[in-house]
Amino acid sequence: MKRRPRGRPVRHCPQCGSTDLTIVGGMIMGQVYHCQKCDYVGSLVLETDAPASPDER
Ligand SMILES: [Zn+2]
Repeated sequence: MKRRPRGRPVRHCPQCGSTDLTIVGGMIMGQVYHCQKCDYVGSLVLETDAPASPDER
């Protein structure tokens, strides 16, 4: 186990790029996200790590 990055993963809407996503229940296939901005609903979201220490990797 290595130390974790300080920031947690940030999820972006694939349509508008907003981070205003809420999880709409968990399905067997995975979680479904709902974008508050563009009303996108789907399990596909862009995930990026929040900027952590530059030492990370
Ligand atoms: Zn969106």
